[in-house]
Amino acid sequence: MAVSISQYVLKVCSRCDLACDHCYVYEHADQSWRAKPKIITEATASQAAWRIREHAKIHQLDAVHVVLHGGEPLLLGHDGLRGVISTLRSLIDPVTQLDLRVHTNGVLLDEKLCALFADYAVQVGVSLDGDRTSNDRHRRFSNGRSSYSEVGRALELLRKPEYRHVYAGILCTVDVRNDPIVVYEALLAEAPPRVDFLLPHATWERPPYRPPGTQTPYAAWLARVYSRWVADGRPMPVRFFDSLLAAWEGRPSQSEAAGLDPVDLLVIDTDGAWEQTDSLKTAYEKAPATGLDVFAHSVDEAMAHPGVAGRQAGIAALCSICRECPMVRACGGGLYTHRYKSDNGFDNPSVYCEDLKVIIPQIVTRPRTVPSASVPGGDPSARHLLPEGAFEVLSAGPGDPAAMAALADSHWSVIRALIAKVASGLGGRGSDLERAAAEGWMLLSALDAERPEAVREVLTYPYVQAWALQCLRPAKGADLDLDYAHLAGLAAAAALRAGIEAELMLPVREGSIYLPSVGALAVNTGPGRTAVVRVSPSGLSTPHCTLAWQTVRRVTIGGMSIAVEDIDPFRDCQVWEPSGRLSTARWNAWRLGLAAAARQLAAELPTYAGVIYTGLRSVVPMRPRAVGSRQSGTARHAFGALALALPGDVGTLSALLLHEMQHVKLTALCDLFDLFDQADQRRFPVPWRADRRPVEGLLHGTYAHLAIADLWRSRSRQTPVLPARRLFLMYRSWVEKGIEVLMQSGALMPQGERFVNGMRSTVEEWADDS
Ligand code: SF4
Ligand code: SF4
Repeated sequence: MAVSISQYVLKVCSRCDLACDHCYVYEHADQSWRAKPKIITEATASQAAWRIREHAKIHQLDAVHVVLHGGEPLLLGHDGLRGVISTLRSLIDPVTQLDLRVHTNGVLLDEKLCALFADYAVQVGVSLDGDRTSNDRHRRFSNGRSSYSEVGRALELLRKPEYRHVYAGILCTVDVRNDPIVVYEALLAEAPPRVDFLLPHATWERPPYRPPGTQTPYAAWLARVYSRWVADGRPMPVRFFDSLLAAWEGRPSQSEAAGLDPVDLLVIDTDGAWEQTDSLKTAYEKAPATGLDVFAHSVDEAMAHPGVAGRQAGIAALCSICRECPMVRACGGGLYTHRYKSDNGFDNPSVYCEDLKVIIPQIVTRPRTVPSASVPGGDPSARHLLPEGAFEVLSAGPGDPAAMAALADSHWSVIRALIAKVASGLGGRGSDLERAAAEGWMLLSALDAERPEAVREVLTYPYVQAWALQCLRPAKGADLDLDYAHLAGLAAAAALRAGIEAELMLPVREGSIYLPSVGALAVNTGPGRTAVVRVSPSGLSTPHCTLAWQTVRRVTIGGMSIAVEDIDPFRDCQVWEPSGRLSTARWNAWRLGLAAAARQLAAELPTYAGVIYTGLRSVVPMRPRAVGSRQSGTARHAFGALALALPGDVGTLSALLLHEMQHVKLTALCDLFDLFDQADQRRFPVPWRADRRPVEGLLHGTYAHLAIADLWRSRSRQTPVLPARRLFLMYRSWVEKGIEVLMQSGALMPQGERFVNGMRSTVEEWADDS
């Protein structure tokens, strides 16, 4: 049972300037809005804030979330909203982190309100049901006039660089009469940081519209959006899909409509009444009412109301059908309101049950791709992500530059989504670090529109993903403000590449400011945690006392510029420790070694070499390890980066490059395709190690050794001496054994079998070499 409430919907206005015919506030069973004050008073808002503060303090909450809602909250006007917002901030901010949002139809949003929301760090969500035709189906003024242009103007305002950081996203109510792809594309065109699709509120008494002859039209509609979204590389988070997957994987769903988490949400109406979730207005008259209010009752008392307490029991609170359902972990019985029937209340599956049973498996069993009949072996939506034949050439060993470039494209989609997620978690603008992060994000957003190639160049730098994940999954004791402010360093690097002028505050980390992929500058800012930096086409300048500039040094191989990364603060994401800044002598050793290894590889295995030059962005020099232990590695979250301890000879270095790039390619493929059963915990014998390995390790090892076998095959042909031949035969036998164990493991998905068969074809071509 939940012991506290951290989410509140504060209704600041009970009327609306639109008259949407699908509105649950005015058009459904509960008509209590008629008796409510039109707007909240200062006294009520203040008392509500006191109650939230009191509860947060007693329960020592890390954060509370408050959404200003209505009706239409902007009808409260600029001054009224300022009063409510400043009251909430002044009372709640001192005791906990306040995530403050407003949800609006957008009609009244103007510059002045955007500036107010930016000043008080209020995130703005806007309702939009798709393109003009789709939106006009319901979202109209009372005289029937379309609201589409006004909403479009509001979203345009939120996209401006100065407000972009308060743009929270779009809420779209599904109507199956609208074309799902047209709706999806219309929403995508608004560049929202996040989208949510809402099923129209309905109950068993008032079922949703279903076109004649259809059984599960909502599943079909959402499946088309899901396929397209996956094929596009998930360009923004979509809460409906993300929540179901999170719940299925045992993470918090962050949504009332998915999973079995206790519901810790209360509504405060304009008269100060504590109410249950708003959607209950669809069920019956006064369904959300508790009879309690903020003046006489605390949050703890409101929590004890049977309607609220009854939402805390997880699976035990569901009907027997849901309790037995294999989808229950993700579905959670659907939205509470959607279960209502007049004869037995909420003891039913969702009225959308049949749709949910169809759509949920598509999302949770194939989190990365969706099925289609067009590619044998499954996972065909990835056809949109990889060029024709790319999967085959990659599975055969080397791949080709086009396939490698396509893997890099899909990685770019992942990075965009991750960074949007980081930006959606930006805090207020109180401290210098918070301001640095917000201003960095604004500049990146503006540059993304004007100079996208410069932004992509910086954001696809390998350690950006490691940084973003560090922000999203902070380690204990992490300095989150400092980490988030790294956005400013990324923006400065992108501005430098774009050749524009900009002034930014950059975070100071251990005495230096970092421009990822460019360099680092040691500065003396005293106790200050940020440094002001001016970027221009001629370089970087700062009013602070500067101590030393360190550039990211590069080697050109195969016409590509590869960074030898020894300064990026987020490069430490491999299995062992990276070296510090290389001395000039060591740098020269690396420079000459990498160039020689690349030349040798190009002579020995030109196809592999071409792919390596396409995908390799950086090499991290690592501290040498004990002789006999592994001297190279890759990090799952640093696509295009290798970590190496410099070996003494060029032949070994080229083999390490080859070996590790196999891991880079396979890791990226595993992000696109379900190659093996992730839940399979078994370990299998492998010929190259004494210990048994999980199926993922077995697959990776076999793929890496496939390339190494090819290398020794080439070497044995060029220099037909016995050791090279012996090594080829040894590596080939390892690959053959790996393939055999993989195929007998029962752990491969159809696409994984395709991949292993690709490796087998290559080995079979070597039969004559025996
Ligand atoms: S804008 Fe929102 S509150 Fe207003 S009528 Fe439409 S759905 Fe209802
Ligand atoms: S899919 Fe249907 S039966 Fe299963 S949990 Fe959801 S509502 Fe209940």
